[in-house]
Amino acid sequence: MNTFDPASRIQDLLQFGEFGDVNPSITDSATYTFMEARSMSDTFDGTLEGCFLYSRHWNPSNKYLSDALAAMEGTEAAWVTGSGMGAITSAILQLIGCGDHIVACMTIYGGTFAFLKNYLPKFNVEVTFVDITDLQAVKAAIRPNTKIIYTETMTNPMLQISDIPALAKIADDNNIKLVVDNTFTPMIVAPAIHGAHVVVYSMTKFINGKNDCVAGAICGKQEFIDALCNVNDGTAMLLGPVLDPMRSSSILKNIHTLHLRMKKHSENAMYLASHFKKIGLKILYPGLPEHKGHDILKKIMNPDFGFGGMIAIDMGTAGRANQLMELMEKAGVGYLAVSLGYFKTLFSNSGKSTSSEVPEEIQREMGMSEGLVRFSVGLDHNIERTFEKIEECFSKMQDD
Ligand SMILES: *Cc1c(COP(=O)(O)O)cnc(C)c1O
Repeated sequence: MNTFDPASRIQDLLQFGEFGDVNPSITDSATYTFMEARSMSDTFDGTLEGCFLYSRHWNPSNKYLSDALAAMEGTEAAWVTGSGMGAITSAILQLIGCGDHIVACMTIYGGTFAFLKNYLPKFNVEVTFVDITDLQAVKAAIRPNTKIIYTETMTNPMLQISDIPALAKIADDNNIKLVVDNTFTPMIVAPAIHGAHVVVYSMTKFINGKNDCVAGAICGKQEFIDALCNVNDGTAMLLGPVLDPMRSSSILKNIHTLHLRMKKHSENAMYLASHFKKIGLKILYPGLPEHKGHDILKKIMNPDFGFGGMIAIDMGTAGRANQLMELMEKAGVGYLAVSLGYFKTLFSNSGKSTSSEVPEEIQREMGMSEGLVRFSVGLDHNIERTFEKIEECFSKMQDD
């Protein structure tokens, strides 16, 4: 039984502003005044709690949001960044040095894939990409200089499921860190509860849910977050990908509706997935029993929030994928756009968009068809009506 309840942990937060404002006051300051010179030097040393020094390091609005995320993930601490990539690159760079090695899931977000494959060689860091569902392959890829196993709970765009407890065990046995991107499955899975050492997010997606900003987060042990923010050698402090406090405060408000949104995204996705299946489409959805990751997800998920809002269907060719997406946009199903976790349904052809950084031969190797259409299913009140619209689009498709 999964007794971890992220929604109640968010509900139980008592965060209010200096005048009792029910939404914590927004920090509109880059720097902070000290009444005693001594307190300033103690803050620099990191020995004084509750004092803020400079907003790139920490600021009160970011602290409120970070505390909410740590509560939701069951981690000791968190730090929020100006984008998901800011979180991912900072967390990775904090854990590695020149000449180190990373074992990474092959089907990760295109930007992360590009960072690992094209950027890290600058630092002589090698990455072995593996099928993350093949635990023997993960074990076999580990070398004496391996520092990280990197994966996503639910991978993009193939929606593979990482067996987080098993990967955490492999990491622990080898004294290395398991870093998990949980962007697709907030509330549904809390990777740290299952042994992940660091959890990263693009909050741009489900967590914020409004598509009005990019933002990210890193959740982990207090010691790790403190090290990230260390004024002398912390990656976050020195590279400076901090989130703007105005945004932290707007994201914090949206976190309080995340549990409702995740439920609805999942409910709508399950409806579409089962109906797509009924009309004979080739479909990937972890909520369907035939999906390869279904049983693993069932073991680690919080069942209150369903199997997530992401679906992929295989249209065979890029031409047919494009035709369908254009028809769906015209019919008002949603938008032809990258990104996900929005209240509107979004769809894109993965191979030509969010995974275009992944070379075509690797796309084929990971089983990604050029006709793959990824849906981020929205919060539609009447999903039956949406399905009818999609069916009508299918009936208008012409042979290509
Ligand atoms: C979008 C995304 C990212 C990158 O996040 P940004 O906020 O765009 O920087 C990383 N991982 C996953 C799984 C994503 O979907």
